[in-house]
Amino acid sequence: TRRILIAGNWKMNTRRRDAAALAKGVVDGIPKECAVEIALCPPSVYLGTVSECVVGSPVGLGGQNLYAAADGAFTGEVNAGMLTDIGCSYVILGHSERRQLMGETDADVSKKLHAALAGNLIPIVCVGETQEQRENNETEQVVSDQLKGSLAGLDEARAAGIVIAYEPVWAIGTGLTASPDQAEAVHAFIRGILTDDFGEDVAGQIRLQYGGSVKPGNAAELLGQKNIDGALVGGASLKAEDFLGIINAV
Ligand code: 13P
Repeated sequence: TRRILIAGNWKMNTRRRDAAALAKGVVDGIPKECAVEIALCPPSVYLGTVSECVVGSPVGLGGQNLYAAADGAFTGEVNAGMLTDIGCSYVILGHSERRQLMGETDADVSKKLHAALAGNLIPIVCVGETQEQRENNETEQVVSDQLKGSLAGLDEARAAGIVIAYEPVWAIGTGLTASPDQAEAVHAFIRGILTDDFGEDVAGQIRLQYGGSVKPGNAAELLGQKNIDGALVGGASLKAEDFLGIINAV
């Protein structure tokens, strides 16, 4: 059985005080004996602030990106060792915004994945098609290419611990959520690819999150699908009430 993982991707939002208030709001609001695994992924400059708010609570911390190198002359970058040092257990990799705006490739994501695993971080690897690709019936090809490229060189022993987030680009920040059937179809397809690559046992342990306009009102139906094991939440993670609403919908 796969434990549901609800992660909040704050993207490039909040200031220090809002970040602390939001993190405290989530920590204070989570249900007692919460069966759901929870992670907050604030901007890197606020990881320390949020880390202090979640320490000792069941709420985990994640980075939104990393650079796949040890310490050195890489101006502006943050590596896996720094993320774990500040209290992270997770890191989001290959988000569509990074792929589109910063030109991240599957090869880059693969390097980051290996750096994350070597640094004992749980990688959340994002994949997903654009509106145009879906209209051209390229969804499966795009997702399968992204998976193969991003997971290149990953061995079975480590594969079970990774998380894949399926985030259709057309559903991100648009209010257009994939229907539960649409999302489940792609999740089942991803599970099939993982089964081919790593075998049924390992593929059955890999958690697949859905991301794209997840809200308290649509979370239960999405998370009720057989192959949807969590959510990667953007906009609705910026209000403790909404984020807690999603957690409570599970
Ligand atoms: P929204 O929930 O704002 O659509 O963002 C989804 C996302 O990109 C999470 O990584």
